[in-house]
Amino acid sequence: MVTLLGKTLTELQDVAISVGLPRYAGKQLAEWLYVKRVTDFSDMSNISLKGREKLAEQYAIGRTAPIAEAVSRDGTKKYLFKSENGEYIESVFIPEDDRATLCVSTQAGCKMGCRFCMTGTLGFHGQLTTADILNQVFSIPDSAALTNLVYMGEGEPCDNIDAVLRSVEVLSAAWGCGWSPKRITVSSVGYIPGVKRLLDECDCHVAISLHNPFAAERADIMPIEKVYPIEQVVSLLREYDWTHQRRISFEYICFGGQNDTMRHAQGLRHLLKGLDCRINLIRFHESPDNSTLAEFHSSTSEQMEWLRDYLTNIGITTTIRRSRGEDILAACGMLVNSLQQDKS
Ligand code: SF4
Repeated sequence: MVTLLGKTLTELQDVAISVGLPRYAGKQLAEWLYVKRVTDFSDMSNISLKGREKLAEQYAIGRTAPIAEAVSRDGTKKYLFKSENGEYIESVFIPEDDRATLCVSTQAGCKMGCRFCMTGTLGFHGQLTTADILNQVFSIPDSAALTNLVYMGEGEPCDNIDAVLRSVEVLSAAWGCGWSPKRITVSSVGYIPGVKRLLDECDCHVAISLHNPFAAERADIMPIEKVYPIEQVVSLLREYDWTHQRRISFEYICFGGQNDTMRHAQGLRHLLKGLDCRINLIRFHESPDNSTLAEFHSSTSEQMEWLRDYLTNIGITTTIRRSRGEDILAACGMLVNSLQQDKS
């Protein structure tokens, strides 16, 4: 069975022709999939009965409901999905006063091996398809409430860039969901080949996981630094215009004494000098059960506030991101579902 979710308008026109429907039925298919979001061919009422039957024989829509849900005391919800290839992955729905954000996974597990990240301890279990990514967006019960999407769940999005770009295209195309790309942020640890394509081939916001401005210290916690140094990533970012609609931000998890000192603040100042960007400081979530992360500790609130004020005073817009969903292991870097662990 070929999955339809994730196909472009042109591809859906070819699908229509393949089952004996006119080419224009491709547009109708796109509307059923991406606007009305039906989960069954029988609901596609403006497509002939024979056409629907033939579609059902050869194609799958690609929608599957989450198989489990956990709700935090702060309202954050974590959903567990099974991917097309049978891997277990998680998404996190984060409601706030004026927005509702979904954090989606792009890979099952991750191969980047960041030492502070629980997802990284899972290892890599495979790429998600475009359908897997879109299914997280469309199949959560809160889908209609979504205002924003961040690609910050399991995996390194720029290491699965074809599926990521295609999902962004479906979400933002006029024939697709029609979202503004400004509602979408794709994160990366700085996997340069994928970051370059992200910058060249779509208009969504970009967030780079920075966590330390010094190469040797960053390499110690993020192996990617040895292959694609953060200085090269920042040089690449400098080639693009960030003064208009598109936004570049840097994610910075604060580890007490390890990356939150005056020396680090000055390192950030030097690294990002002149770049129109913002920094999001993130509290590190100490994991109750994971001794492999025991060497990492969160900065104090006072130190994070000091770092925020220092960076803001030198002209870098800096915020402290509010922690969400910690009690259900849904916060940043905590996605490590037990079903996938059991398979590992
Ligand atoms: Fe992978 Fe992101 Fe975790 Fe690094 S922080 S191991 S890139 S999921």
